Amino acid sequence: MSYLDEIKHLEESDKEFIWHPFTQMKGWLEQDPIIIVEGRDCFVKDAYGKWYLDGVSSLWVSIHGHRKQEIDDAVKAQLDKLAHSTLLGLSNIPAIQLAEKLIGLTDRSFPGNERRLTKVFYSDNGSTAVEVALKMAFQYWIHKGVRGRNSFLSLNYGYHGDTLGAVSIGGIAIFHSTFQPLLFKSFKAPAPYCYRCEIGKTFPACSFACLKEMENILQQHSTEIGAVVIEPVVQAAGGMIVWPGGYLSGVRELCYKYNVLLIADEVATGFGRTGRMFASEHESVVPDIMCLSKGITNGYLPLAATLTTDDVFNAFLGEFSELKTFFHGHSYTGNPLACAAALACLQVFEKEHTLEKAGDAIALLESKLEDIAELPYVGNVRNKGLMAGIELVRDKSSGEQYDWEERMGWKVACKARGEGVLIRPLGNVIVIMPPISISAESMEHLMDVVKKSIENVSSK
Ligand code: PMP
Repeated sequence: MSYLDEIKHLEESDKEFIWHPFTQMKGWLEQDPIIIVEGRDCFVKDAYGKWYLDGVSSLWVSIHGHRKQEIDDAVKAQLDKLAHSTLLGLSNIPAIQLAEKLIGLTDRSFPGNERRLTKVFYSDNGSTAVEVALKMAFQYWIHKGVRGRNSFLSLNYGYHGDTLGAVSIGGIAIFHSTFQPLLFKSFKAPAPYCYRCEIGKTFPACSFACLKEMENILQQHSTEIGAVVIEPVVQAAGGMIVWPGGYLSGVRELCYKYNVLLIADEVATGFGRTGRMFASEHESVVPDIMCLSKGITNGYLPLAATLTTDDVFNAFLGEFSELKTFFHGHSYTGNPLACAAALACLQVFEKEHTLEKAGDAIALLESKLEDIAELPYVGNVRNKGLMAGIELVRDKSSGEQYDWEERMGWKVACKARGEGVLIRPLGNVIVIMPPISISAESMEHLMDVVKKSIENVSSK
């Protein structure tokens, strides 16, 4: 079989055998898939040899870019020792070392704070990191002798994953409403989405009216609420909604005041995405539970970690017969290969001063966004660090939205793909989230193609 025939065969086999996530398969089956075969830095290559700029870090995971030598080496070295062992009843070296490293990192991120994250519970993806957090918070209150904390408070436009617990606290109707009959009750507060304020106010004149709404819910229902669950600073899948400064610390204060736990879902924002190692750092807010995944291994292997405090951990200590054990765990919990990749990923941050150097890329992104904001069909641009959203609108002055069925974001992404740039929109919001290590030249190219693609699509 020639190489070309082989590729054709793979394209057919993809359509015959794979059911792709978040994909209407009818449309998928009508076209040939792009099959990615190789990666290097901020680029990936398809089976025909065409290179693409990876504008969304392969679904927000690739922090340092593809084929990072140090991480390649660490995974290969670990392979020579042990690929897998379980954390149920046993331990392994990379899992221990990574846990220590993560705790050290959070200590450095939140210096001098009385509240410390001290324990790491591993799982294997963002949804499970959140699922673990929810169950941990729920059981914590039981162990404290507090009954009735059977619910959570989260935000409209929130996204925490696709397992049913995570969906229960989700706030994106198009993804979540179908499953309503299967979900547990959760309370929803308005998101601080200032461009489309749900309560019709304007920041800063509003004095955080949305926080007041959260407080009203807590005032009435705090005895039913185990935790407030948030994506700190940037609500990513909800449309790259960037919070105004002060909102996060306002939430922390409310959690103290009404004695509920705070769960920070840093699955998307963690590991430098917002310009700090963790987004919670921007307002020195230490959550009671923090969920990490995505960038943790630079996309090499699936891994997640749910970090918590001594207060939560200690509540689970007791005699075996007291049944205070946290009965939760996955086959791949603490997988040594994944932990070795994560350790190397964190070492690259130190060795290359990734965060310190990101300032230039962020400044360039921001100047390009300012330019794009002038386009007639762009209603709003927003970013925190290297997480950015460009919201397309039918009418700039009123902010009237395109109908979601028009798939404007998707059309822009298709146009960019033709120009060799991979992006994936969220409805009418174009998402920009390249590897943090992106060069000035690549950032320039990424944003120029995005601009051209928006112009091209919206002028039709
Ligand atoms: N939480 C947040 C904030 C996320 O952005 C995501 C994924 N986009 C998840 C949880 C779920 O992660 P995963 O897809 O790895 O299950």
